[in-house]
Amino acid sequence: MALIVQKYGGTSVATPEKVIEAARQIRAAREGGNQVVVVVSAMGGATDELLRLASEVTARPDARELDALLCTGEAASAGLLSLALNHQGVASRSFSGPEAGIRTDHRHGRATIVAVDPHRLREELAGGSIPVVAGFQGRSITTGARTTLGRGGSDTTGVALAAALGADHCEIVTDVAGVYTADPRTVVGARRHTALLYEEMAELAVSGAKVLASDSVDYARTHGVDLKVRSNSAATGPQTWVSDGRRTAGAATGQPWTPAGRSRPIAGVAGRSGLVRCVLRRITTDHVLRLLGELAERETEVELRRYGNLGTEDAGDIALTLPEDSVEDMRELLADTDHGIRLDEAHWTTNLARLCVVGLGIGRHPYAPLRLLEALRSAGAARTDLHVTSNRLSVLTGSGDLAAATQIVHDTFLSEPVTPLAHPAGPDHAGPARPLAAGPGQLRSAVPALAAAE
Ligand code: ADP
Ligand code: ASP
Ligand code: MG
Repeated sequence: MALIVQKYGGTSVATPEKVIEAARQIRAAREGGNQVVVVVSAMGGATDELLRLASEVTARPDARELDALLCTGEAASAGLLSLALNHQGVASRSFSGPEAGIRTDHRHGRATIVAVDPHRLREELAGGSIPVVAGFQGRSITTGARTTLGRGGSDTTGVALAAALGADHCEIVTDVAGVYTADPRTVVGARRHTALLYEEMAELAVSGAKVLASDSVDYARTHGVDLKVRSNSAATGPQTWVSDGRRTAGAATGQPWTPAGRSRPIAGVAGRSGLVRCVLRRITTDHVLRLLGELAERETEVELRRYGNLGTEDAGDIALTLPEDSVEDMRELLADTDHGIRLDEAHWTTNLARLCVVGLGIGRHPYAPLRLLEALRSAGAARTDLHVTSNRLSVLTGSGDLAAATQIVHDTFLSEPVTPLAHPAGPDHAGPARPLAAGPGQLRSAVPALAAAE
């Protein structure tokens, strides 16, 4: 008998009818001979509504109380789903995150799971009942307060419980049939992967593919939890496996699994809007270090994109990218004259988005950044701060350009099934002897095609 954790997202429990359907699928999994632990999100839109209510009461909500409020969204759907299971003749009890043994650090609104004590869930399973756990929440090991895990955090609850219980896998039940090469709701021609590696999914998630919360992928990779992403409309339909590759090795893709390297296809395109760029000019190294230190201490979400001094010893420029809701923190820091940063040397650009192309080894491919920039130029999209890492290309564009830019970049890198170039020495071969030229046709085939997606 396999133990599986099934996580139902907000859209999968958005109405009473959907809750009843979720209960039916849970019952079917049990009748199929499995032990099932369920994790559930708040009913679709409920968390946003709670946030809206809070904002009507105060512009600066207390973080502890906001978490206490947000936890109620998941508590409600857990209770409702247990009621639906009971009504279908299945014994079930609901649990809050703390009751289910989820322990976190103290950071309200973005807590990290630090331990899981699943003994109450085990007792429940032993008694033949299905536990339904409210996702997205836990209890701080330092303050004892209820905490939430950040948007999309129920995915992480599901993975953490699967790890603690030694489950066969964690099923992420959502409103699409798996992980696609881009958001299938907005990008024409996006194709579903049958299998992805943790590394690929982690890059996609952090780039903005919200089908899985990025913390959940990191947790799954660290603890070796296989993820199965599938649609809430059918338990046995198409799916995507996210794993270290062993579970899906030799599966229907017909492509041998390779641990890394350039023979891996492109995993996809993802983006995130709501970003702001701040460039500080001619600030001293001391000030840069102090500023970065304070940003780190305040845990302000910020990315350092560029730092350098152009010829002068002790003055340089620094470019930071941050989400809109971190701007207040940043402005407060800069306004503090102790930092000696003159505000007229700070240049802000708002309404930005980051667009990313993800593929193992893509950053080692000389033509990939060129193709990205050419695609953006042909779409007339703004493009700055191109950043290349081994598994990802990212570039800033305008928020208003993101949709069109994503489509054209997806078309460029992923739309046409092309035959990957042969790698004479296999994936580790990094030598220069590759027959590439800069003509458009050859450029297209220079980046390996997507072979593992449908
Ligand atoms: P849930 O409520 O089940 O947690 P989410 O809304 O968090 O669902 O995530 C599912 C959504 O993720 C999809 O409806 C889809 O629009 C979006 N999405 C973004 N990028 C991708 C992608 N690469 N593959 C699949 N879905 C994606
Ligand atoms: N309800 C939370 C959110 O909307 C957590 C989740 O859905 O996983 O972000
Ligand atoms: Mg989600």
